[in-house]
Parts: sequence; C-alpha cells; structure tokens
Amino acid sequence: MKDVGEEMAQQLRNRNWIKNYKELIDDAFADEEVKAFVKENQLSQTELARSASKVYEFVSIKRQIKNGEVTPAPGYQPQLILSNHLIDVAYVPSEELMKSKKQAEIRARVRTLNMPKAIRTAQLADFDITGREEIAQAAADFIDTYTANPQKFIQGMYLQGSFGVGKTYLLGAIANGLAEEGFRSTMLHFPSFAVEVKGAIGSNNVVEKIDSIKKAPVLMLDDIGADQLSSWLRDDVLGIILQYRMQEELPTFFSSNLSMQDLLEQYLTVNNRGEAEPLKARRIMERIVFLSKEYTMIGRNRRHS
Ligand code: ADP
Ligand code: MG
Repeated sequence: MKDVGEEMAQQLRNRNWIKNYKELIDDAFADEEVKAFVKENQLSQTELARSASKVYEFVSIKRQIKNGEVTPAPGYQPQLILSNHLIDVAYVPSEELMKSKKQAEIRARVRTLNMPKAIRTAQLADFDITGREEIAQAAADFIDTYTANPQKFIQGMYLQGSFGVGKTYLLGAIANGLAEEGFRSTMLHFPSFAVEVKGAIGSNNVVEKIDSIKKAPVLMLDDIGADQLSSWLRDDVLGIILQYRMQEELPTFFSSNLSMQDLLEQYLTVNNRGEAEPLKARRIMERIVFLSKEYTMIGRNRRHS
C-alpha cells in the first residue's frame, strides 16, 4: 500500500512547483522587450504558451549578463526571433566580443620573432614627435602610400639612433598601423634571428626560416648591427633576404644603433674573425640603401633600467 503522507507531500511539491513555474513564466512575459515582441508579432495564447520556455531562457540569460554572471555562451547576447510562429532565442555576438575579435585579427597580421611584447600596443598616435616630426610624418606617409597601392614599391625606413629613443616602438607602431588597414608584416630582432638560424645549420629549417622571412610583404629588421656577423650570416642569410626583397621590390625597414656609414664600415666589412671583406660588405649595403631611407632619430632614453 502507498504511503498516503508521501503521496500528499508529492502532490504539494508538484503544486508548489507548478506555482513557481507559473510565477517564473509570468515574470518572464512581464519583461519589456518580451512584451514589445509579443505585441509586434501578434502571437496567440497557444503560441505564447508553446513559447514559454524560450521566453524564460531569454529573460534568464539577459539577467545573468546584467548581473555579470558567466553565461553558457560568453560574449553572446540573446535576441528574440520568430521561428514557425513560435518565439525562439538567437545568440548574437556582443559589441565587446566583435571588438575583441577584430582586435585579434589585427594583431594576427603582425608576425613577430623575438620582439618585446610592448610593441603590440604601439601606436603612431602615441609616438612622441617632439624633434622627430619628419620621422613621424615619413612613417604616416608610408602607411598611407602603401595602403593606397601595396603593389607599388616604396622605400622603407632605416631608423638610426641611440639606445632607448624609441626605434623599435616606431617600427611596431608602423606594423600595427598597417595591420589596421589589413596588411601583414613581419618584425624580427635580427641578432636573435641570426642565433636561431645558426643553430639550425644543417637542417632543412634554415632554408625554410630564411624563405618565410624574405617573402614577408613588409619586413622589419630590428637592431641590425648589434651583434657580430660571420661571413655566412652576412652573405647567405642577410644577403639572400635583401637580394630577394630588392628583386621583388618588397618594403623593408631597419633599426640600428649605427648609421648606414658605420654599419657598412664596422658591421658589414669586418666579420667575426676580424677579416675585412669590403666588397662583399658594399654589396649588402647597396641593397639596404635601395630598400630604405636613412633617418636619424633623436630623443631621450625611455628605458628605465
Ligand atoms: P630603441 O629601440 O630605440 O632602443 P625602444 O623602442 O625599445 O627604443 O623604446 C624604449 C622604451 O620606451 C620601450 O620600453 C618602449 O616601449 C618605450 N617607448 C618608446 N617610445 C614610446 C612612446 N612613444 N610611447 C610610449 N612608450 C614608448
Ligand atoms: Mg630597439
């Protein structure tokens, strides 16, 4: 025999549940957006009854977002739609999500190798132009000219200046500016790249590494001249990259603590064994001069350490 007490309790629970359910649904239908939607679409009582769970879902998720709670689909906002005369909920990406997706797409256009993270946020608009108006103008002009016609050859910039004046920052700002216009670029810290390539000697990776760099639509070689080159790195790595870019007329930027003249005489001419190879050095320098225009960057040292 059934336990009568238990049966009654069950009924009460059901009744309570039904009462709560009814309250929840009434509450959901009282939402202003829901009311407007129902009115606009002139739904019948039957249709409304069959839509109840969706309306409840819509209002619950909206409330969760408002309270800053994590929803089942973070970043998406519920929207009422009509589907076969019944209410349904569609999830549309929120403005913030669209923004952060767009930001990620822009960021993905700048390929970096061994570059400081800070350049990710570098902006031409934040570049301190005092005494450096010509450089800032040239950078902005480059972005405009390239954007107008990416197929046409434009010289890049050879930024020369002492430690900490913001050469790397400016290269980052140019790369980010190009990315916002939809263009890809590659930035690499040249001394680190040289070490990596040297470490990969003998494997197929060397050719692959050099190929992927030399073909970049816009290439920025940061801190060239900061290390000591072997003849191999100068002629078969740097030389190959620059030769290709000259032939293909691909925009190329450099930053260096050395002027072009010093780069030629100190960095390119004497190899790491102390041997002078002026003719080979000149060949490389001719390519750098073809690819870029020299700018001297002045300013205070912004590094804290
Ligand atoms: P360089 O490459 O000439 O040695 P950096 O570009 O590395 O100099 O700049 C030195 C420091 O100053 C970095 O930490 C960089 O992020 C910061 N910096 C440079 N220019 C700016 C700027 N316009 N606004 C904010 N920070 C800057
Ligand atoms: Mg630098």
